[in-house]
Amino acid sequence: MYKDVPEHKQPRELIESLARFPAENPCPVMRIAKDGTLLYANASSSSILKLWGYRQGEKICGQWHDVVLETLSNGTSLTREVECDDKCYSLTFVPPAACEYVNVYGLDRTEAKRVELAVADARTYAESIVATVRQPLLVLDSELTVVSANRSFYRDFRVDPENTVGSLVYELGDGQWDIPELRRLLEEILPASTWFDDFRVEHDFPDIGLRVMLLNGRQVISEGEKTQRILLAIKDITDSLRAEQERERLLKTVAAKNRELQDIIYIASHDLKSPLVNILGFSSELLRDCEQLGNLLGKDQLEQSEKDAVENLVRNEIPQEVKFISSSGHMLKGLIDGMLKVSRIGGAEYSIEPLNMNELMQEVADALEFSIRERGASVTVERLPDCLGDASKTSQLFSNLINNALKYLDPGRKGVIRILGRSENGRSEYCVEDNGIGIDAAHQQKVFEIFHRLNPRDDVGGEGLGLTIAMRILDQMDGGMRLESEPGKGSKFFVSLPGA
Ligand code: ADP
Repeated sequence: MYKDVPEHKQPRELIESLARFPAENPCPVMRIAKDGTLLYANASSSSILKLWGYRQGEKICGQWHDVVLETLSNGTSLTREVECDDKCYSLTFVPPAACEYVNVYGLDRTEAKRVELAVADARTYAESIVATVRQPLLVLDSELTVVSANRSFYRDFRVDPENTVGSLVYELGDGQWDIPELRRLLEEILPASTWFDDFRVEHDFPDIGLRVMLLNGRQVISEGEKTQRILLAIKDITDSLRAEQERERLLKTVAAKNRELQDIIYIASHDLKSPLVNILGFSSELLRDCEQLGNLLGKDQLEQSEKDAVENLVRNEIPQEVKFISSSGHMLKGLIDGMLKVSRIGGAEYSIEPLNMNELMQEVADALEFSIRERGASVTVERLPDCLGDASKTSQLFSNLINNALKYLDPGRKGVIRILGRSENGRSEYCVEDNGIGIDAAHQQKVFEIFHRLNPRDDVGGEGLGLTIAMRILDQMDGGMRLESEPGKGSKFFVSLPGA
């Protein structure tokens, strides 16, 4: 650039040109002496000086002079911001070594500030969306460290922001989020597919107990910032699931009630009918015989055949008709009492509690000791798991089953009855097993029906209610019963109850 300028002129022109260098700077440049005198200010500083109310050569005092003094005493640069004429400048006060002044370099940060504010606005907006979402939400970085969480997360999972933000997700709440399923989602599924929806996870949290959750995850990669965020939305469906289970339980109860009603209609139309037909039939016969007797006794004199007829009516016909009416009446009473017994099972109060089934079953077996000895049978109770149920109803249920096992033993061989149990999938299953007469496959469903007896005229006695009552009890305790049996070999009645 200086090659045409004669050599002796070069330094002067160079000095002049360099002297213009700060003046030509589009950014403010100033020099302020230790006593506050504004030694130099370029043209770009004019708006700042106007704001401050000083001109070159004047002494600056107050806040800005304090910055000068602080810079000189520290010996390191200080940066302050100043806003004027809709612009924002950052002023860096630099203390040159061993000088009694500072140089001030300004930088127009108006646009940068606008972007910063816009970013802050956007962040506040995003954070307020996250905060207002009712579902618990976690924002993680690529290292799976929590960047932020919303109020619902803190509230639902009983953790606080201090111990959450900045922690690894698996370390939250003393490691309660260290769930193998979640690890798989975040470390395998998310990197491969960038999102997952409604992933069902069940976890037993130390503070809040067993929770069933649906997890939704999104990997958000910002191109500009080259940062990666993971949004993890957690929907706790434990309560709705419980409500659904309760609904199912109620539906089951309604179905059981319906069955009961159908049974009652069946009994009314079938079982109650035959004794009634008897009563009505024999009553009209009785009436007719009484009329005949009245007519005969109304006569002054009776022939021998008429006397025989009276005798027959009084000694045979009428007593027999009364006997039939009476036995049908007893039968009706038995049926109605039975129906009441069954319906009371449904309406009774149940107090569900953990039951020690080894103790309970031993008590049931002890109470049946007389019948056991009478039949020369052996009853063994093996180790049984505990369950949840009502103690007295559970005793009644197993008493009915063991009693049946005794009643329907095969007289041709020694009776062996075993009571076994096992736990599976949170349920306890018990089996009352006998080597009795067994039940034909065709009748295996029917035996659970009210008043159903396979051999109504057998001599073991029974009302056909034992299994119906057992079923009703199980309906009330979230239980179930099934039967496996082989005629001539024996039967196994399996009872399932919630585990304790
Ligand atoms: P009940 O014993 O009073 O007749 P239940 O309802 O207890 O009434 O049983 C219905 C029917 O099921 C019985 O009459 C019997 O025929 C059959 N049954 C029940 N338990 C057994 C068993 N362990 N072995 C063979 N048959 C059985």
